[in-house]
Formats: sequence, structure tokens, C-alpha cells
Amino acid sequence: MRMPLPADYHMHTPLCRHAKGEPTEYAARAIEVGLPEIGFSDHSPMREDDFDDWRMRARELAEYAAKVERARLDHPTLPIRFGLEVDFLPGQEPWIREMADFHEWDYFIGSVHYVGDWAIDDPATLNQWRNRETMEVWTAYFKNLTDAAATGLFQIIGHADLPKKFGFVPAGDCATLYRNFLTACADTETCIELNTAGLRKDCAEIYPHPDILKLARQLGVQITFGSDAHAPNEVGMDLERAVTLARESGYEECCRFEKREKSVVAI
Ligand code: ZN
Ligand code: FE
Ligand code: FE
Ligand code: ZN
Repeated sequence: MRMPLPADYHMHTPLCRHAKGEPTEYAARAIEVGLPEIGFSDHSPMREDDFDDWRMRARELAEYAAKVERARLDHPTLPIRFGLEVDFLPGQEPWIREMADFHEWDYFIGSVHYVGDWAIDDPATLNQWRNRETMEVWTAYFKNLTDAAATGLFQIIGHADLPKKFGFVPAGDCATLYRNFLTACADTETCIELNTAGLRKDCAEIYPHPDILKLARQLGVQITFGSDAHAPNEVGMDLERAVTLARESGYEECCRFEKREKSVVAI
């Protein structure tokens, strides 16, 4: 028997300038693969539109809402949530609060992509990894991630061990980094996501690593699931594997969000 799938809460739109396909096509695909619910979480704008070139502009938030509304009208039987993948950088809290007031969002995924001004997961700056000490980058990354969770501004923290993407994994022990981060999640009741995009990258693993998930379970941190789809064919991809991993780590339920209200469902 096929395993029932959880909601896919991490998908993008062409507004971020590096994804393909309209939200209504993602929704059609979700129905095709049997997802019970989806949520859009495109890359949030920054206050300054020239901050970088892989996210929507602030003035495009209304167009983003319209595209998701179109998907809802075209697919009335599929529950479609509306969120953002919000970049956390130190000092951005006022801007994140402003965005939170812009719309009645279902959830924010807080993600860290930057260490200093370097986007550590950008293939264009992959060479930086060879000039830096891997443990030093991971330490700085998890410091930002811990601070992001501690703000309580996010319902979910995205792809917790993103620094492994290109295969740069420290030889040393990261247990303290993980524990500090997950303690902040537990304190603020922030979920972490199982993100299957890692399976499609050099690391060839779901984010986060089973060590992180097992510790998260012990500390009472709850979970969501996401494909991080940047094209319609990626919707729901490998979610069965993510559910299996969650169960192996001791999880029996995951979270849903509606207008930032959390509820739990069995997996
Ligand atoms: Zn992206
Ligand atoms: Fe991301
Ligand atoms: Fe994403
Ligand atoms: Zn992402």
C-alpha cells in the first residue's frame, strides 16, 4: 500500500527568478501525486531590491498573492497555504515584522543562506568553500540559525544543515551546534522541516541529517515536510523517503499551519 503523504510546505514561484512554472501548475502536480495539502514559500524580498538577484522584489508581494489565489481558484479541492521563505540575517527583524504585517500569512519558513555577505549555497560562489575553514563556516551558519529560531518570528526553520549542500562537511563534532540550535527551536516552539531538495544536490541527503532529527525529537521539536520545488515536477518529490526518515527518528506526527495556528496530524 502506498504511504499517505504529508503536506508539502516548501515550493517556489518564478518571481524568485530561479524557479519555473506558475503556482497553478504546482497545484495541478500536487493533485496528480496525491498530496493532501500544499503551501507556497517563495524567497522573501529584502527591503533593498538590489540586495541580490535570486528573490522577488518587495513590490511583487501583491503579484505573489495573486498567483497563489489563482492556483486556489483553479484547484478548489486542494488546501493551499500561503507563506514565505524568509531569509534571516542579523538585524533584519524589523523588516521581517513589516512583511508579516503585509498579509495574513499561514506561515513563515525562516532560512539562513548567508554567512556574512556570502550566500553559502549559491553555485556561483562555490569556490569560497575552498578558501574557508569548513568548521568555521558551519559554526557561523548555526549561530545565525540559532538566532533565527530564537526570534520566534518563524513557524518553521528551513533546511537546517544547508552547509552540507556541496559536500563540505566538517570532520569535527557538530553536536554542540545542533543542540544550541534545537534548544532555541524548542524554547520558541519553532518547527524544523525535512527538506528533500538535498537529495538532488551533491550531498545526496535529506536536510537535516538523522543526527539532528533524532536530537530534535528528544528535545520535543516538531516537524514539517517540504520538497523545496523550484519546478512543478519537483512537487512532493521524495516525501515518502522523508516520512520514513522521520519515523525512524521517532516522529509520529507533523504540523500544519493555518494563519500561523499550528495543528498536528499523524504521519
Ligand atoms: Zn530558491
Ligand atoms: Fe532555501
Ligand atoms: Fe526554498
Ligand atoms: Zn529553500
